[in-house]
Amino acid sequence: MTETAPARARAEIDLAALRANVRTLRAKAPGAAVMTVVKSDAYGHGAVPCARAALDAGATWLGTATPEEALALRAAGLTGRIMCWLWTPGGPWREAVEADLDLGVSGLWALREAVGAARATGRTARVQLKADTGLGRGGCQPADWPELVAAARRAEAEGLVAVTGLWSHFACADEPGHPSIRAQLTVFREMVAYAEAQGLRPEVRHIANSPATLTIPETHFDLVRTGIATYGISPSPELGTAEELGLRPVMTLSASLALVKHVPAGHGVSYGHHYVTTGDTTLGLVPVGYADGVPRHASGAGPVLVGGKWRTVAGRVAMDQFAVDLGGDEPPVGDRAVLFGPGDRGEPTVEDWARAAGTIGYEIVTRIGTRVPRVYV
Ligand code: PLP
Repeated sequence: MTETAPARARAEIDLAALRANVRTLRAKAPGAAVMTVVKSDAYGHGAVPCARAALDAGATWLGTATPEEALALRAAGLTGRIMCWLWTPGGPWREAVEADLDLGVSGLWALREAVGAARATGRTARVQLKADTGLGRGGCQPADWPELVAAARRAEAEGLVAVTGLWSHFACADEPGHPSIRAQLTVFREMVAYAEAQGLRPEVRHIANSPATLTIPETHFDLVRTGIATYGISPSPELGTAEELGLRPVMTLSASLALVKHVPAGHGVSYGHHYVTTGDTTLGLVPVGYADGVPRHASGAGPVLVGGKWRTVAGRVAMDQFAVDLGGDEPPVGDRAVLFGPGDRGEPTVEDWARAAGTIGYEIVTRIGTRVPRVYV
C-alpha cells in the first residue's frame, strides 16, 4: 500500500488474512461447500472485495441477508451462486429471479412471491426452503412444513421453481454443549427427511454458521454458511480467541492523533466529566467517535495502542472523537492510535473492544461507519 496524506482514520482490510480464514474453514468442513456470508457490507469489511477474495480462496457460494445486497454483488460482476434470505413483501422478487439468485423462503407468502416472479419473468426461481428448527426467528414451523413442501412440489412440477436447498439456522451454536444444538439438529434431520420423502431433491442442506463450522462437524451437511470467522473474529469467548481458533483478524482500525496537550490535575475530560485527571498529565485526542462506530458503551473502558502502550478511553466517547490519558507521554500529533487489529503488534483486538462495550465482535465491526475509508492491503 502506498501512503498519501495520513488519514484521520482508516480500516485496513487484510485480504490475505481473509483468504487464509476461508481456507481454514474449508479444512474444518472438508466435505461441505463454503458459503461466505457477506451481508452488512461483509460485516463492515467491504462486500465486493471480500466476496472476490473469499471466492479466490475456494468459497463457492456467497450469502447476504437482503436481496438488495445480493443484487449489488451481481451488479459488481460476481457471477456465481448467491443466496439471500431476508425478504419482505414488495421486495425485488423479479430482479432476484432474473439475476439467478437463490431465494431463502420461510413461508407460503414468500413462495407465492417467488412463483409470481417466475411467471412474470418466464424463468425458474431457485428457492431454498427455510425450516425453523428452534431458533424462533425466520423459517417455517414444523407444523406448517407439510403445506410449504407440498406447495413447493406443485410449483416445481409446473417448472416455476426449483427447490435448490433446505436449510435452517442455529440459536446457540456458540454455547458449547447447549442442549438446543442437538434438539435443532434432530428437528432439521426430520424436516429434511420429510421434504425428501415428498420428492424434493435439494442440491444443498445446510444449518451451520461459524461456531458450528468450527466446532460441531456433524452440523456441516452439504454446505456451511460462515460469516464472522471469515473476518478472523471469534464467534464467542466461550469458543476461544481468534488465535486459538486458527483465525487471523482481517480489520485493523486506527486513527491519527489529532492533538496532544498538557493538562493539570483535577481536569475533567469529555462530556459529563466522567473522567477527571488525578495528576498533571497529557491527553491525546483520537479523532473517531460513535458516528464512526466506536461504541459509546466503551466510554471509560475501550483500549487503544498509542505510543507503544495500551491506553484507555478517558471519559465519554463523543460523536467524532474521544480522549486518552497519556500519563505524561508526548507522542507526536499524527501518531497512529490503533483501536484494534490482529493483536500481534501489541494492539487490542475486536474481542477486547467487544468486552469493553459489553457486546459481541459482530457488532463492533459491522458498525464501523462509512466515514472511515477501507484500505485494502
Ligand atoms: N446464516 C444466517 C442465516 C445468518 O443470519 C448468519 C449471520 O448472522 C450466518 C449464517 C453467519 O453467521 P456467523 O457470522 O456466526 O458465521
